[in-house]
Amino acid sequence: MPEENYECKACGLHYNTKELADKCYAWCSAHKSCSMEITKHSIEMSGKSAPSSVVP
Ligand SMILES: [Zn+2]
Repeated sequence: MPEENYECKACGLHYNTKELADKCYAWCSAHKSCSMEITKHSIEMSGKSAPSSVVP
């Protein structure tokens, strides 16, 4: 089954849950920067999966 992920439209990071993506977007919009506490949960930062866009 394909793994779904959710993008923060503000910073472009991807998350495994919509909740985290929403949380990140809310923070990014309000603070104009990212919160490490949130971005560390992103797919990019967790480093266990390549960005979906480059997977053939
Ligand atoms: Zn963000």
